[in-house]
Amino acid sequence: MSKTAIVMFGAPGSGKGTQAKYLMDTYDFIQLSTGDILRGLKKKSESDLTDSQREAISVMDSGRLVSDELVSQLLADEIETSQSSKIIFDGFPRNETQITIFNDLMQKFEFNRIIPVYLEVSDEILIDRMKSRIKEMKEAGLPVRADDTPETLEVRLDTYHRDTEPVINYFEKSSDMIMLKADAHTTKEEIRDQLNEMIMPKCCL
Ligand code: AMP
Repeated sequence: MSKTAIVMFGAPGSGKGTQAKYLMDTYDFIQLSTGDILRGLKKKSESDLTDSQREAISVMDSGRLVSDELVSQLLADEIETSQSSKIIFDGFPRNETQITIFNDLMQKFEFNRIIPVYLEVSDEILIDRMKSRIKEMKEAGLPVRADDTPETLEVRLDTYHRDTEPVINYFEKSSDMIMLKADAHTTKEEIRDQLNEMIMPKCCL
């Protein structure tokens, strides 16, 4: 049986979550977002958390990356539980160590088709988007994520350039990556249409 993994790359705020949602709805993929899985830890009561989970929450709120061991364990559990043959990985792998973890997981769960997708957006646009998002959330009286502050975004962007860009280079060299570039005027619908056109023959014909 063919098992397909789409790996979404893009800096915080690049819109990869939105595009992943479109692919889920259109092609019946499930999405595994390591950020969402880790944020799920915050819903647990304090006494149910292990020391490494407690540590992960504070690291996450600072904008840095949590331990590779914890992410890898949480993800392996989710893949196993989902039993899905079509998974979108959103936010993983995120550093060079996680490339090996990713390849091992793909082998273990017998995923034989890997499609990397990269949404390229400049830091300037990301910072502008983040500021508008915080403003909108505050105006609507909604809670702002602990790691959605201009200061933490700077840490997240530094981490992204330092740790995640080498991962993107690796996937670009080792497989046929779908690359989509957005400037200040590109709409999410335009990105969605380009993505759809490029991904359909690879994943879903
Ligand atoms: P995201 O929602 O993908 O921006 O992730 C939010 C935060 O979760 C990141 O800033 C990290 O602290 C943590 N995180 C998400 N994915 C990973 C990962 N693959 N490895 C380590 N930390 C991660």
